[in-house]
Amino acid sequence: MTTTELLQYDRDHLWHPYTSTINPLPVYPVVKAEGVTITLADGKELIDGMSSWWAAVHGYNHPILNAAAKTQLDKMSHIMFGGFTHEPAVELAAKLLPLLPPSMEKIFLADSGSVAVEVALKMAIQYWQSKGVPKKHTFATIRSGYHGDTWHAMSVCDPVTGMHGLFSGSLPIQYFIPQPSVRFGEEWKEEAITPLQDLLERHADEIAALILEPVVQGAGGMYFYSPTFLVRARELCERYNVLLIFDEIATGFGRTGKLFAWEHAGVEPDIMCIGKALTGGYLTLSATITTKLIADTICSGEAGCFMHGPTFMGNPLACAIASASISLLIASHWQEKVKRIEEQLRTELAPAIKLPEVAEVRVLGAIGVIEMKHPVDMAILQRRFVEEGIWVRPFGRLVYLMPPFVISTNELSKLTSGLLRVLTHN
Ligand SMILES: *Cc1c(COP(=O)(O)O)cnc(C)c1O
Repeated sequence: MTTTELLQYDRDHLWHPYTSTINPLPVYPVVKAEGVTITLADGKELIDGMSSWWAAVHGYNHPILNAAAKTQLDKMSHIMFGGFTHEPAVELAAKLLPLLPPSMEKIFLADSGSVAVEVALKMAIQYWQSKGVPKKHTFATIRSGYHGDTWHAMSVCDPVTGMHGLFSGSLPIQYFIPQPSVRFGEEWKEEAITPLQDLLERHADEIAALILEPVVQGAGGMYFYSPTFLVRARELCERYNVLLIFDEIATGFGRTGKLFAWEHAGVEPDIMCIGKALTGGYLTLSATITTKLIADTICSGEAGCFMHGPTFMGNPLACAIASASISLLIASHWQEKVKRIEEQLRTELAPAIKLPEVAEVRVLGAIGVIEMKHPVDMAILQRRFVEEGIWVRPFGRLVYLMPPFVISTNELSKLTSGLLRVLTHN
């Protein structure tokens, strides 16, 4: 197949994420990715600013992760998890649990972030059913969140930027409060917790759980809020008998400057979701983790077990790579790398605030966000970024960078200067 034929077939038959089949933006044929360099079919090289949506923290084609995949491939790439267990799954759990909040003891391996969120929500429902409180079956969250594209996950995404309008009538109704008004690094103001306090005061008897992306909201708005909100939310959940779910699918594994974002606040969730960087950017995998008490309560209920079991649960290949990825991360001085990226992003993105179209520039950990005053023209920007030799994929008013942690100072400068050039001249 020539590249022209490939692109034509793609255009005729393949869906892409959130992309029209009638009038799609161009897609770029990739033939190789190595480190932070993505190589296109015509030989053009792009510096990666996206980590393939938070996942590829070690960059691409990493020899250690490749070796882990190859070793496992020669033993078995998959075996059902019903009735079997295996070293990759157990080893992964044993590496992971000591890194998570101490109360997290029972781990459910799932296939993708959205599924991990579905699993977390189902756990909350089954927990309250087992406790004899079936009336607690809705969820509360803050606006501008993103928790995935599957059905119930979608229902707790931001009702405006998410898909509520489109699917209204078929989505379950959840309770939304405004996003926390105190930002990360700002002094806490007690009134910022009032909306949650009021909501729980009125509706706690129907609410199974509060679900939050701790500190950093990802795809729903790239917004950084005060960790004290989590401290107060934890207290309120305790007081009103509502479970607290932390969705750390985007924030996990060092991205915000802490290994997991809950550490900014020091309060533990009842249920936690991880994914994305868990995988080292190789194969889809996620996990939902909860306390022994919640797991045991669920299993002492009517069903006698938790009612979920994906075909590819605990996939050995994905687990073996994830295991290697965690070891690599822990051994990699990731704190220094993320700190260096943070400082460089702060310095090099700061000048963007002078551009007439830019509303705000914010940086936390290895995440740099330029918020525009109006939605960007993706058709122009995507082409211009590629011309500059950088891979950046904005959405709405948000142009942002979250590069692999292995990016060098020079490569990151190329990314930020290319980005600024594009935003200056368009
Ligand atoms: C990406 C993401 C999800 C969904 O993960 P998928 O693997 O795309 O299903 C859920 N929650 C958060 C916070 C995410 O960033």
